Amino acid sequence: MPTDKLSINSRTLSHKLMVLYALMFILPGGYLLFVIWDLRNAVLDPEAVQMLTGISLHLGVPAAILMSCAAFTLMYRSMRKIHEVTEEAGTFYTEIHGTTTVPRELAEESDEVQRISHYVTDMIGELRRKINDVDQYAQDLDQANKKLMEVAVVDGMTQLYNHKHIRHLLVTELRRAERFSHPLAIMMIDIDDFKKFNDTYGHLVGDRALRDVSRMLRNNIRTVDVPARYGGEEFLVILPEATIDGGVLVAERVRQAIEEHSFDTGRGIRKSHITVSIGVSAYEGAPVTDSDLISQADTRLYDAKHAGKNKVISS
Ligand code: GH3
Ligand code: MG
Ligand code: MG
Repeated sequence: MPTDKLSINSRTLSHKLMVLYALMFILPGGYLLFVIWDLRNAVLDPEAVQMLTGISLHLGVPAAILMSCAAFTLMYRSMRKIHEVTEEAGTFYTEIHGTTTVPRELAEESDEVQRISHYVTDMIGELRRKINDVDQYAQDLDQANKKLMEVAVVDGMTQLYNHKHIRHLLVTELRRAERFSHPLAIMMIDIDDFKKFNDTYGHLVGDRALRDVSRMLRNNIRTVDVPARYGGEEFLVILPEATIDGGVLVAERVRQAIEEHSFDTGRGIRKSHITVSIGVSAYEGAPVTDSDLISQADTRLYDAKHAGKNKVISS
């Protein structure tokens, strides 16, 4: 198995360059001799011939030798540079492939320029593949990050925002409302007697009912409103631009929709009903913190419970 390392220090290219060098030397040298010979024949005056021959010999020949030496030096330096570059390309090639050997057909290629061309083409292909791989990794990473973000802010069962995220959003929304002097309402919703529902139909049916309530919540609010699962069977909705009266309107609509809905209990055609109690609070200009809003809505929610459940309370 041939194990040639990349090198331009090989016969064919070097020989070609040496031939070129010889031609560069022989052609001007031959021409110089021809000129000297011609001048000798053409000029009859022996003194002039002697002078011209002297000039040719004393200036022409050293000039030709100097030019040839310069050409040789230039060529030698160029060859060294090409050699170094090729060595580096060879090292890079073997590193990319994780090997010290090159394929047989490449190793047996006698034209070095062809070989270098093969190596470079191969390396470009390899680089393209690596760039594609990196692109793919970046896309995968992006998707994984998005999923992670989603998992961090979304409740798995209801697909609504979770407690932590809604608290964060509430701070942001309240700040925005204060800056632009716009109202902002929130509603805290709690399912009535849900423990009994679970005890009667089981937790799986309870889970399905929670998902149904979440869906109905989403269907009965505006797209700018932000619903979240605040706790077990509790929900918090942020209603940007809504006054306390606006909040009550939305809360009533949600309460009614849930009250009227027949929940599948998973026992044949038997359906059951669920009700919710809702507490509403709002920012309408008077200084208030996000925690104040939550605790007001909470207090009103429990007022609704004490008032017999299935109610909306806002003061
Ligand atoms: P109230 O009308 O006073 O709110 O009574 P309640 O029974 O709804 O309230 P309580 O706090 O006594 O019970 C809440 C119930 O909600 C108990 C718990 O099993 C149920 N629950 C909380 N999270 C989940 C859940 O993810 N799935 C199911 N199936 N039930 C849940
Ligand atoms: Mg509760
Ligand atoms: Mg409850």
